[in-house]
Amino acid sequence: MSEEILQVSGLVKRYEDLTVLDRVDLSVRKGEVVVIVGPSGCGKSTFLRCLNGLENIQEGRITLDGETIDSTGAKLNKVRERIGMVFQSYELFPHKTVLQNMTLAPVKVRGVSKKDAEAEALQLLERVGLLSKKDQYPSRLSGGQRQRVAIVRALMMHPEVLLLDEITAALDPEMVREVLDVVISLAKEGRTMVIVTHELAFARAVADRMILLDGGKIVEEGSPEEFFEHPKTERLKKFLESFSYQE
Ligand code: ADP
Ligand code: MG
Repeated sequence: MSEEILQVSGLVKRYEDLTVLDRVDLSVRKGEVVVIVGPSGCGKSTFLRCLNGLENIQEGRITLDGETIDSTGAKLNKVRERIGMVFQSYELFPHKTVLQNMTLAPVKVRGVSKKDAEAEALQLLERVGLLSKKDQYPSRLSGGQRQRVAIVRALMMHPEVLLLDEITAALDPEMVREVLDVVISLAKEGRTMVIVTHELAFARAVADRMILLDGGKIVEEGSPEEFFEHPKTERLKKFLESFSYQE
């Protein structure tokens, strides 16, 4: 079993008197793909944002390779650089081309030369079938193409962990597959990922471990097979029924 890279212990996150996360524990091993599902509003996005140091937390501890992630810490930027995140809505800079979107942060933040950053960006774009779009502005791309760019842009920072928050939720159905296929290929190459999704068939295909988050807690977790075939809790059974999940 490979080593743990991300550890969460006793995480409590409150917005004023609303407790969104109530003592959540989770540890993620290097190369592991953890998929989190749960009803809308249960705190999935909040959890990912905490992992990335975007939220202050009230209790508990989050560490990446032993280093504490703390939204107020001076070292936060350093830690955050090691965790990539892609959101539901496209976060590409509208006034930059695809290539500029990809090279901006590595050049500025990682100190990579423009030439090296461009060479890497072109390789990644080729890999996701978007090399021909390198000089286009985001507005000229389809939603699925934009999300593929957003994923490879995150990879340009060489993150140790990638967080994906419902990255296909805003897409037209015909574009979902092309984006999920990229994620599946990342899983196959051993990327460590924590993924929030409503696409249960995809979740089952990509996950090493499934988690149901509800009521601020991890209600159930297990291998995809256990989770989908032999749910233990009533809550998970109900949740799966609400999707009328079928193989
Ligand atoms: P999910 O991603 O599972 O749908 P969220 O993490 O977005 O859920 O939200 C969890 C809960 O926290 C919801 O009740 C939401 O209204 C609340 N919440 C999220 N962000 C904030 C915020 N910035 N201020 C106050 N409440 C928030
Ligand atoms: Mg959300």
